[in-house]
Amino acid sequence: MFASINPYNQRRLKTYRADSSAAIERKLKQADRAFADWSVLSLQERTDFMRRVGSQLVSRRSELAELITAEMGKIRQEAEGEIQKCADACAFYADQAGSFLADQVIESPARRSYVTYQPLGTVLAIMPWNFPFWQVFRFAIPGLLAGNVGVLKHAPNVFGCALAIEQVFRDAGLPDGVFQSLLIDVGPVETLLNDQRVKAVTLTGSGRAGASVAALAGKAIKKSVLELGGSDALIVLADADLDQAAKTAVQSRMQNAGQSCIAAKRFIVEKSVKKAFTERVVEHISQIRQGDPTHDTTTMGPMARLDLADSIERQYHQSLKQGAKSLTGALKRDGCNVQPMLLDKVRTGMAAFDEETFGPLAVLIDAKDEAEAIRLANRSNFGLGSAIWTRDLDRANRLARQIEAGSVFINGLMRSDVRVPFGGIKQSGFGRELSDVGIREFVNIKTVWVE
Ligand code: NDP
Repeated sequence: MFASINPYNQRRLKTYRADSSAAIERKLKQADRAFADWSVLSLQERTDFMRRVGSQLVSRRSELAELITAEMGKIRQEAEGEIQKCADACAFYADQAGSFLADQVIESPARRSYVTYQPLGTVLAIMPWNFPFWQVFRFAIPGLLAGNVGVLKHAPNVFGCALAIEQVFRDAGLPDGVFQSLLIDVGPVETLLNDQRVKAVTLTGSGRAGASVAALAGKAIKKSVLELGGSDALIVLADADLDQAAKTAVQSRMQNAGQSCIAAKRFIVEKSVKKAFTERVVEHISQIRQGDPTHDTTTMGPMARLDLADSIERQYHQSLKQGAKSLTGALKRDGCNVQPMLLDKVRTGMAAFDEETFGPLAVLIDAKDEAEAIRLANRSNFGLGSAIWTRDLDRANRLARQIEAGSVFINGLMRSDVRVPFGGIKQSGFGRELSDVGIREFVNIKTVWVE
């Protein structure tokens, strides 16, 4: 049995019975059968389905947002934004899939040579709780449009969301078996990856989970895409618009109670503007209202689980012991409700620098100049996103090339946007989601050569 617990008040919401081996087998069989029909539909038919999925999401936005808030604690406004983002992505891919998946004619000595993109079959999606709809749709929309079918192993604290997502696909009229949720923990994952009907896997989550899944997929010689979080640097140079930089830094770090892979986790600030930037950050943090995520006046909800709140508390105390200084007083925590924190004097070797901090903890790191800022940004095992704040765009574009990360945002909020590739390097994983690149991750890129 699995239980979903409201993180704000620790009340049990619902319990779910785990799928038995027989139930898993039934779902895999159904996925396999569904693939045979789904993959041969015209792209137009699949895009029609996906537009209906988008309409379902829009018409049920408020009810689905309520479920997200109850299960993982995100404030209502952010939860509604997440559902809308999924709906917008349905529309984007429905419009673009035709060009993204069109045969590509290649000039060659052949009479005709071209590349065609064909689906693989059943793809296993292992997903986390932090964006319980977006993480799933980010895979499912392009994955299904390309002709694959999906089985989802969601995080057990958001099994209500997992079943609601399955229902959205069903209500949009997708044939049975095209998208199914498996109510399982990690136990059956190895068996699933060894099953010849499962062709590939995508995982969003921790490095620990990613390493395990990549090893299993490697052993079975199956394609994997891993999105494993980060410790993104936000570099503030002396010529930055400090008001905008501080506002965006705090928004990036604190939204979703700090539980975002692409949050600005390390603020690296040129010394000459450190004091002015810090004052602004302190001011923005003081305006955050942490509390009941269903209230309109609340701007930050609880963290999603007690063990996650324990982790951020441990990282905070460890960093203090290692020499960091708190600018927000002593840590205030009640269960999953953790008040936003700001640490100064953070350096390499401290938990808040070296590890991914997945909660409302912002950290300030001194850099004497631009070169040191880049060095510090790259002194991380992670490489997901990053940001550079400066009014000199030539300088920003030059520095962007020196940063070891999957994306660099100049004078803006780091985020995933359906139009551009999303993913990381180093311990942040491999492969890309979203855009034309994402839809081609789970396809057979087939060359046809006609003499
Ligand atoms: P996990 O990585 O443990 O969970 C994410 C998903 O992976 C869940 O569905 C989980 O299932 C599954 N999973 C975990 N271990 C394995 C495994 N060995 N084989 C297959 N699937 C697995 O993250 P947590 O929820 O425990 O969070 C821990 C930390 O991970 C966070 O503090 C954060 O640093 C990072 N994280 C990063 C995310 C991102 O967006 N990149 C999202 C979530 C977490 P189950 O829950 O059943 O174990």
